[in-house]
Amino acid sequence: MSYEFIESTKGKPLLVVSGYLYRRDRKKWRCLSKDCNARIEIVDDKLGVVPVHEHSPDNLDVTVRRKLNELERTARAAPSEYKTSLLVDSLVGTLRSEAVIGRLPNLHLLRKKVDYARKKTEQNLGNPGRTRTDLRISDSDKMTLKDDLFLHFDSGEEDPDRIIVFATSQNLSLLRECPE
Ligand SMILES: [Zn+2]
Repeated sequence: MSYEFIESTKGKPLLVVSGYLYRRDRKKWRCLSKDCNARIEIVDDKLGVVPVHEHSPDNLDVTVRRKLNELERTARAAPSEYKTSLLVDSLVGTLRSEAVIGRLPNLHLLRKKVDYARKKTEQNLGNPGRTRTDLRISDSDKMTLKDDLFLHFDSGEEDPDRIIVFATSQNLSLLRECPE
C-alpha cells in the first residue's frame, strides 16, 4: 500500500494512507480523528499493518491540506516584494471545486499564514534583501494549482532590472476589462 506525507497547518508532517490522516505519535503514527485510536507504523520505509477505522476517510480534508501546502510553496518562491494578498488571491482564484473552496480558511487567515511562511523562509535564508536576480523559478512555480500558466513574463536571471510577471490568464483578462 502506498503512503505520502503532507504538512499540517503548523508545518508538522502528516501521513496519508487511503484518505486517512495520521500525526506523529512517538514511534508510530496516530489517526488525526479525535476519538479514533487507530495507529500505524512505518518500518524501513514500509507501512505496517493498516488499521481499521470506525469512521470514513476524509478525502476532502486531504485535498484541502494538499492545496494549502502547494499554495505555501508557491508563495514562498515568489519574490519578496510581491504582496502576499495578491499571490493568495490569484492562486485561490484558480480553484474550481466549491467543496475545496468551502473548506479553506478564510482569505484573511490564509494571507496571514502565507505571510508568516514567507517571512520565515526569508529569515531562514538569512538574506532579507533577496533580489529578483537571485530568484530561481522552478517549472512547478510557473504553474498554478490548476496547472494554468502562472508565470507570464520573466526577463531572465541575467537581467539586473529583472521583470517577472506572475498572473493567471483569468486575472489578466480581468485587468484588461478594468477601466483603470
Ligand atoms: Zn481513524
